[in-house]
Amino acid sequence: MRSLTSILLTGGAGFIGSALARALLARPDLEHLVILDALTYAGSRANLAGPDQDPRLTFIEGDIADDTLVSELLEKFNCDGIMHLAAESHVDQSIENPAKFITTNINGTFSLLDVARRHDVALLQCSTDEVYGPIAAPAKADESFPLKPSSPYSASKASADLIVQAAHTTFDQEIVIARCSNNYGPRQHREKLIPTLVHCALRDQPLPIYGSGKQVRDWIHVDDTARGLIKVFESGLSHRIYNLGANCERTNLEIAHTVLKHLNKPESLIEHVRDRPGHDLRYAIDTTRAMATLGWQPLIPFQEGFEKVVRELGAALSPN
Ligand code: NAD
Repeated sequence: MRSLTSILLTGGAGFIGSALARALLARPDLEHLVILDALTYAGSRANLAGPDQDPRLTFIEGDIADDTLVSELLEKFNCDGIMHLAAESHVDQSIENPAKFITTNINGTFSLLDVARRHDVALLQCSTDEVYGPIAAPAKADESFPLKPSSPYSASKASADLIVQAAHTTFDQEIVIARCSNNYGPRQHREKLIPTLVHCALRDQPLPIYGSGKQVRDWIHVDDTARGLIKVFESGLSHRIYNLGANCERTNLEIAHTVLKHLNKPESLIEHVRDRPGHDLRYAIDTTRAMATLGWQPLIPFQEGFEKVVRELGAALSPN
């Protein structure tokens, strides 16, 4: 078991990172949580309201590519490991401006990994099911599936995964990789699908749905992911990849209908817009390894979790 006494968490002011910070701080064995976040447009100190009152938390605004800073933090806080979530994370943005995805997701991850090697600390790489590319039903990708990323975002994450794996093969570095499916939950940035749908529905504005809306995603509550990431970090075998998903496939259109139902808004608000280039039709992962070997499983049923999240996002995004 890897120790969770002192952890450096990158991207902790983002959506999943701020949920993971809460889950880590709920652990009595955790003594220091150091969050390193560049506070890009996607990150916000407000996402850490509550946890930031905990004396065990130290927030540092900075870039994962700043190796001097990362090195100082690992030393000062005597960190046992790095949970690496910082990334450029929005596929649409990767189509608009791919360069920053290469800079952060590939070069930034390499820099962090290199510092981890010099300090001999374990690194968890938080990756995505998008690296497998589109999966035709009824198949599900297990961890041995080939990488076939379609977008600059997923290609940058797949590249980072390979660099992380090579660090184990070549330098015997202690690494684990978690590939997560689509997360829903509180504090997600407005640009992502579900907050966009909630924002528009609350204003009686058209809900934009790419193309047919038949794209299938596997939705998992962010708190289930946070628990899974901790399990992977603590107990995952070095060099192993673990898929984390909830076996909860929904089309984007179904998601839009469910949002409208929970907010009592008419289905006529749905508006089909030009599809995203290279839009993968279906992501689906086999989570047997994580469930069988880590004793992890998602606990939040979609029906309950999703309705609550729509209410929470509704309160945060309300026009009033
Ligand atoms: P997010 O965009 O909400 O948060 C990313 C955070 O990283 C932000 O706080 C941002 O300020 C920070 N950041 C960006 N560049 C940085 C840099 N150079 N140095 C330091 N901090 C930087 O993303 P998220 O949705 O919380 O995703 C977190 C991780 O999980 C990412 O690695 C993403 O690829 C992965 N992931 C997300 C999902 C999902 O559904 N959201 C699914 C699978 C995997």
